[in-house]
Amino acid sequence: MNILVSHCFLGEPCRYDGASRLDRQIIELHRAGHNLIPVCPELLGGLDVPRSPAELQPDGRVLTQDGQDVTEEYLTGARRVLEIAQENGCTVAILKARSPSCGSGEIYDGTFTRTLTRGWGLAARLLEQAGIGVMDEEHLQAWLYNS
Ligand code: SF4
Repeated sequence: MNILVSHCFLGEPCRYDGASRLDRQIIELHRAGHNLIPVCPELLGGLDVPRSPAELQPDGRVLTQDGQDVTEEYLTGARRVLEIAQENGCTVAILKARSPSCGSGEIYDGTFTRTLTRGWGLAARLLEQAGIGVMDEEHLQAWLYNS
């Protein structure tokens, strides 16, 4: 199965702070025979590493902590991620929890106080609206158990 994954899970240092989020359970999917398709929506949208941390606002914009509006970059990246998913026939995406691009079901609330709220990152939401099953790494084991 072709599975779309957040690139930072594979050790790519693409997070805003130049770190990665290497996740061995994602690597195990590759060992189990799945074809992983890595994407980083924020880099695909034209943003760099490092970059200012950003959060999705209640009005739908994405603002950096220093007040820059990066909504267009996030939307561009989200659209490119959907294209890549469709080009590769992906029906499942495993994306990083709580990211303003990749989060599914729970994200930070836009106040930069580490406060969580219900919501979706822009790329995750676009994929989900297109019928692609999106989950984060914290729900992967339950999915594997049930599939
Ligand atoms: Fe990882 Fe997604 Fe953030 Fe890129 S946008 S660093 S893939 S969580």
